[in-house]
Amino acid sequence: MTLEEQDKKYVLQTYARDYTNFVKGVSSTLYDETGKDYIDFASGIGVNSVGHGNEKLTTAICEQAKNIIHISNLQVIEPQAKLAQKIVELSGYDMGIFFANSGAEANEGAIKIARKYGETKFDNKRYKVITLEHSFHGRTITTVKATGQESFHTPHFSPYPDGFSYEENIEAVYQAIDDETVAVLIELVQGEGGVQPFDKAEIQALTAHLKKEGILLIVDEVQTGVYRTGEFLASNLYEIEPDIITLAKGLGGGVPIGAVMTKHKDILSAGDHGSTFGGNYLSTSAGLAVLDVLENLYENGTISEAFLYFEEKLKKLAKTHENLFEKEVGLGLMRGLRAKSSAIQAAVIKNSLKEGLVVLKAGRNTVRFLPSLTIKKSEIDEGFVRFEKAISTL
Ligand SMILES: *Cc1c(COP(=O)(O)O)cnc(C)c1O
Repeated sequence: MTLEEQDKKYVLQTYARDYTNFVKGVSSTLYDETGKDYIDFASGIGVNSVGHGNEKLTTAICEQAKNIIHISNLQVIEPQAKLAQKIVELSGYDMGIFFANSGAEANEGAIKIARKYGETKFDNKRYKVITLEHSFHGRTITTVKATGQESFHTPHFSPYPDGFSYEENIEAVYQAIDDETVAVLIELVQGEGGVQPFDKAEIQALTAHLKKEGILLIVDEVQTGVYRTGEFLASNLYEIEPDIITLAKGLGGGVPIGAVMTKHKDILSAGDHGSTFGGNYLSTSAGLAVLDVLENLYENGTISEAFLYFEEKLKKLAKTHENLFEKEVGLGLMRGLRAKSSAIQAAVIKNSLKEGLVVLKAGRNTVRFLPSLTIKKSEIDEGFVRFEKAISTL
């Protein structure tokens, strides 16, 4: 049986999967079983924030695994407390953190905090959460309902929980707020929806309005968090102070971890929420190592150098291939090229892989780039050479 046959026979086919079999990664270069190399502009959908085989991360994981991988949350967990402190300090917000295992789970936690806030802080119970069109918040029944894309709300999984609606744009959010609204949940740069950043002034105005109304602002930073946009959080870049922030993708460098942080530290009490695996020794040790690496690269300017370098190359490419791409979009190392059609998008991704370059899709017509934050200039150079080759026949 080939690997593809084995996968198709035994793994539920929920992904439109490619069958390149990667067996090793070094920095932002991947190798398949035949030894062919690929430049990784995807980093496992923004997860491998410090690249593949990072020495500090792999050492931290191995050392921690040799001691304790997991003790339940009924005991204090030293690396968990340390990671919580580190995240809070890097964010600059006075918040407390709950650790989960994924982005969807972090958002579930955020919604639970908001719902209890709505129950306890108002005369009438407030429970409604407003999200935005083209957003993505996860795959659980609740977060899929929070996701502002009709195609996700298939009747297969109905009924969905009440209290979620999505609006076409920020302007419409103001109108949608009623006396049962407890929170607005947004991504500052919509990732899955097409690498679309919101306008900073518009976000700041919304933040001020929500604060005045006593409504919570939840920022889903599952993709934008952990230096992806150039600052530790996109909320830092937008210079706002949300009530609740969720993190996941880049935080563990590939080890599953999610986090929800809030300044409303007294809302959840013992027994309100929990997770068996959340914040265990292994994942939080990984998170500490990741933040140790990235904080240094942020402080010495390496991250901003990498994204400026990437940005310049992408802008040039968009300009010289106006037949294929409308424009370049995104922020930091969260970038995209808006293709002129979904057929072009699909062909670009397929040809890139053939040329030894991993890129992603987003939305209906965006080619998405989420390279590791530790990507080398030489890898960026080689990736763009391969990308040019991949699109030369289109
Ligand atoms: C990926 C993503 C999620 C879901 O994360 P999972 O770990 O797959 O549950 C939620 N929100 C945003 C913005 C994401 O990019």
